[in-house]
Amino acid sequence: MGSDVKNLETRLAEQVGVNFCVTCGNGTDALRLVLQAWQVGPGDAVFIPDFTFFATAEAVCQVGATPVIVDVGADSFNLSAASLALCIEKTKQETNLVPKVVIPVDLFGRPADYHGIREIAHRDHLRILEDAAQGFGATFGDSSACALGDAGTTSFFPAKPLGCYGDGGAIFTDNEQTASILRSLRVHGKGSDKYDNIRIGTNSRLDTLQAAILMVKLDIFVVEMEKRQALAAQYTKALSGLPGLKCPDRIQNGRSAWAQYTITAESTELRNRCMKSLAENDIPSIIYYRTPMHAQPALKDLAFVPIRCDTSKYLSERVFSIPFHPYLDEEDIQRVASVLQNAVS
Ligand SMILES: *Cc1c(COP(=O)(O)O)cnc(C)c1O
Repeated sequence: MGSDVKNLETRLAEQVGVNFCVTCGNGTDALRLVLQAWQVGPGDAVFIPDFTFFATAEAVCQVGATPVIVDVGADSFNLSAASLALCIEKTKQETNLVPKVVIPVDLFGRPADYHGIREIAHRDHLRILEDAAQGFGATFGDSSACALGDAGTTSFFPAKPLGCYGDGGAIFTDNEQTASILRSLRVHGKGSDKYDNIRIGTNSRLDTLQAAILMVKLDIFVVEMEKRQALAAQYTKALSGLPGLKCPDRIQNGRSAWAQYTITAESTELRNRCMKSLAENDIPSIIYYRTPMHAQPALKDLAFVPIRCDTSKYLSERVFSIPFHPYLDEEDIQRVASVLQNAVS
C-alpha cells in the first residue's frame, strides 16, 4: 500500500472516468469485495452469463449467494438481455431467491449490451456489477469499460489487456460509501487503522511493486489499445471469407479491448482441424471456454439454471482464440491466416 498504489488509483479513476478506484489483490477478489460491500449473501440471486471464466460464478458462491445462469448472444458472446428478463421471471416464480445483482461480463474485451441490460436491471431494481476483467480499455457510447455499471471490476493478470507482472485487480465506482467500505474490506475490515476491525474483511492488497509496473505500462496503454484495434481489423480482413469460420462482429457504438481474438467455427470438427493445423505450424491457439457454467461440476448444487443455455453450449463447442497482442505484425497475421486458409479448404 505504498504511495504508488494511491497514485495508480487516482490515475485509473481518471482514465476510466469514475470518482473512485480501489485496487486489490486480483480480479476475483474485486468481484467478491463488491458483493460483500453491497451485502449480497445467502438467499440472494446474482445473474451471470453462462459463457464466462469461472471466477464470475465463484465470487457469487464465495459470498453465499446463488448464481443464476443466463444464456448469451451468439454474435456478442455476452449476456443476452432477453434471456436475463426471462431468468428473472423464472427466479421469482420458481424460487424464494431475491434478485439483487446482475454481473455482465465484457468477454474477450467486448462490452456487453448495457442498453438492454440497464433497462431490465432498473425495472427489477438490480444492481449492475460490470466484470471488465477482460475489458479494460473498451468503450461503450461515451463511457469506458469499468464505468458501465453501479460498480466495475478489472484484473491485471498478465493475460489481460492491462497486465502487471503477477496478480492484481481494481474496482471502480462513483459511490463514495461503497468505495470507503471497499477500502476497509481489503484490509481486514479496518476502521481507523488495521488493528481497529469493524467488519469481517480479507487481505487483498495490490503490491506497490505491481502498482509501479502498472504506472509504466499505463503510459503506453493508449497506444497499445490503438494497435489492438488496427490488428483486429487486419485479422478480420485476412480471415473473412474463409468458409466455415466466423470472425468477431464489429461493435456498434463502442470498441472492444481485444483481450482475445475469438473465431467461431461452424462445427467442432472444423475447430479441431483448425487448431491442429495451427499447432503443427507452432502457432498457439486456445479454447475460451470449453465448459459453460451450467456444466461446471463445482456449480452443480450451487447454481440455478432457469432456462436452457443453448447458445452458450453452441459457442463452447465451436470457438477458439488465435494469438493476439499489440506487438503482432502484418507477417504474423498473414501466417496465421494462411494456415487457417489451408485448414478449411
Ligand atoms: C480473469 C478473469 C477474472 C478473474 O481475474 P483474476 O485476476 O484472475 O482473479 C474474472 N472474470 C473474468 C471474466 C476473467 O477473465
